[in-house]
Amino acid sequence: MLTQRARDPRERARRVLPGGYGRSSYMVGPGAPYAIRGEGCRLWDDTGRVVIDCNNNFASLIHGHAHPAIVAAAFRAIEDGSAFGLPNERELDHAETLLERLPNADAVRYVNSGTEAVMTALRIARAHTGRSRCILTDRAYHGFSDIALATGDERSRRGLPPGVMRDTILLGHNDTAALIDTIERKGADVAAVLIDLMPNRPGLLPAEPEHVRTLVQLCHAHGIVIVVDEVISFRLGPTGRSPLYGLEPDLVILGKLIGGGFPVGAVAGRGEIMHELDPRRATGLDHGGTFSGNPVTMAAGLAALDLFDDAEIRRLNELGDRVRGSLEAPLAAAGWEVRGSGSLLRPWPVAPGDDRATIYRALWWAAYRRGLLLNPTGLVALSTPMEQAVADEIVDVISSAVDDVATGWR
Ligand code: PMP
Repeated sequence: MLTQRARDPRERARRVLPGGYGRSSYMVGPGAPYAIRGEGCRLWDDTGRVVIDCNNNFASLIHGHAHPAIVAAAFRAIEDGSAFGLPNERELDHAETLLERLPNADAVRYVNSGTEAVMTALRIARAHTGRSRCILTDRAYHGFSDIALATGDERSRRGLPPGVMRDTILLGHNDTAALIDTIERKGADVAAVLIDLMPNRPGLLPAEPEHVRTLVQLCHAHGIVIVVDEVISFRLGPTGRSPLYGLEPDLVILGKLIGGGFPVGAVAGRGEIMHELDPRRATGLDHGGTFSGNPVTMAAGLAALDLFDDAEIRRLNELGDRVRGSLEAPLAAAGWEVRGSGSLLRPWPVAPGDDRATIYRALWWAAYRRGLLLNPTGLVALSTPMEQAVADEIVDVISSAVDDVATGWR
């Protein structure tokens, strides 16, 4: 029972949230700052600090905070009523624009998070193939559904039903030999291969083209559904990262930027597979979600998509190239490298003397104290309000922060 309100939000949080946190993903240790407001690429915290936001709510805010066109679109939608128990045309507006960007997809189903989208896509694949097993990449993050958490360490897997582990086959990122061996032996039981073409958690290294080619051949030969998780990587091109590989996914999973800063997820794909969700069919899969296809999300997301046109995608990717280029030498001097592609990058300790989680925790604080908010995994997600001057600041802060960490500063 709450008797008195503490003034410090950390103290208040400890009283009402487990361990004082609302998400494990932004746990950065004692004294975590609270966000007060954001504007463009900057965020104001409760201690009066203003930081460059390179976290961008875990790479979802492609246009940074409170972009006027997105705010206006969301307001207009809210004024018309924020949610309905009937279909609404804002969902169609979003779907038509989204599918124009996905030439290989005939239909889309919206949900409220990437987690739900992954869960839904794998269920569609199972229903479609009549098989139960799925191949995922060890350590790749696909949200927090049971099957997605199976990719994690022992701690992530706590509380999962044993059956989930039995039905999940984990392979190393780019481990083509293991992929061939697994599909040749177990392909008849495999419903889907789920792949992120540049997974952050295992180290933000791109999938190798030869690996992807083999994956496609094997999946086609064995009737396995190819599910590509573009929740983060969709920002890297008008159609995400898949076209770089000539990859035409059966199902693609989206989230983050397509919601314009509001909760969102989506599964898009080939008609004959998406058909599993057709509620007119006697065997159509049950899928609801009180807020799925929410008009506010749809309106804000459409505005975000419209603003993120080919020219902006190119500009932001080139900005990322320049940041990476400028970081190379200073990071190398500290025994680090810079990984990533386009508007996503990550400083990576080449030979960590400590465990990576500890190093990234130290890096997070070192960067924050110097005025930059990182994703706790070290991921930097650029946003369109950023120009060259901000990119230069990012380079300076990250170089200094890496230096702080490399010399043992905490
Ligand atoms: N897939 C990937 C590649 C992700 O990075 C994430 C979230 N970071 C998810 C799925 C899950 O999305 P959400 O957090 O919206 O559930």
